[in-house]
Amino acid sequence: MKLNLLVVAGDGIGPEVTREAVSVMQTVASASGHEISVTEKRIGGIAIDTDGTPLPADTLEAALASDAVFLGAVGGTKWNALPPNTRPEAGLLQLRSALGGFANLRPAFAIKELAVNSPLKVEVIEGADILFVRELLGGLYFGSPREWNKQTGEAWNTMRYTRDEIVRVARIAFQIAQKRSKKLTSVDKANVLEVSQLWRATVNEVAAEFPDVTLEHQLVDSMAMLLMSCPRNYDVVLTENLFGDILSDESAVITGSLGMLPSATIGGKVNLYEPIHGSAPDIAGKGLANPLGAILTGALVLRHSAGLEAEAQAIETAVRKVLEAGYRTADLARGNTTDFKVLSTTEMGKQVRETVSTLLSAQVS
Ligand code: NAD
Repeated sequence: MKLNLLVVAGDGIGPEVTREAVSVMQTVASASGHEISVTEKRIGGIAIDTDGTPLPADTLEAALASDAVFLGAVGGTKWNALPPNTRPEAGLLQLRSALGGFANLRPAFAIKELAVNSPLKVEVIEGADILFVRELLGGLYFGSPREWNKQTGEAWNTMRYTRDEIVRVARIAFQIAQKRSKKLTSVDKANVLEVSQLWRATVNEVAAEFPDVTLEHQLVDSMAMLLMSCPRNYDVVLTENLFGDILSDESAVITGSLGMLPSATIGGKVNLYEPIHGSAPDIAGKGLANPLGAILTGALVLRHSAGLEAEAQAIETAVRKVLEAGYRTADLARGNTTDFKVLSTTEMGKQVRETVSTLLSAQVS
């Protein structure tokens, strides 16, 4: 297998964490006889400085011609005074929309060794491993009419979905649930909203195609509470755009650090992979960035764009093993620091590479 990966590392810590993630992906791919061919292009602030636009035409062209796109992060104080539609973040939004992914996958998982970083009790989060499938191109963020009428002092947005938009994202969620614990929770507000009633009826229809998956429905308000009181009860969680935005951010507290979380946006022309954190200008260039979210994003590339499930799992296992061995980046080193070995971004990347290589060679022998 050969995967043509476009890398748009972006700004701040984006290039630092991306370098480690790509290096781990390439180590894993070559150890198992595969190839990841990398092309690098500019996006965000660096592209504004060099090309005068946050998404240069050749970056977009290369993205559309690639098998998958890996993004680091964009933005920084230097570009904050620019109008919103010319800022670094506009480049990312344009890229997301051109690639057309409608299913945003975002895991939230507990890692025993990092439990001290979470505001939740260890006994509540232990074993939690949730994958959110958030619909990304519909709902309140895109529905029309939308307006802020400053004369009348009114504003409105429209939560609109079509049956087809729900079917396509639900199918992805059921397919993923088939490969995990065969349990899917769909979240809506069907006791109040017609759009949620359509959502629930359509998800029930799609469920008939996946008889091996157990489906349950939850209302979004109670789900917000249940995720914090018993996160272990949930595996794949399917929901619409706004609810998914809120619930997946809420659930990030289970993991305890922004620097640990990956994401993938799939279903469009080309899949887009990005750690969820931003460009962290406060720590950029200091070797303090945690590359594990980016490295775990690399695992999602292998799983969803290369079909390399065992290799994806090897990366995920290697990250856990490195943490079990007491290695931390500065953002994770809370509690008694003598218990940890605090590593720089590149040192952490090297630890994961070495650990994953050992795991893969043990599988072969
Ligand atoms: P941020 O995620 O960049 O940083 C928030 C805090 O978390 C900071 O204290 C930072 O040091 C820390 N942090 C984030 N990632 C980390 C990592 N990997 N390792 C260690 N610490 C980490 O969010 P912000 O400060 O709100 O935004 C900074 C810039 O990033 C802004 O310009 C914003 O628009 C942009 N941004 C970009 C994306 C993206 O590219 N997808 C996402 C969010 C924010």
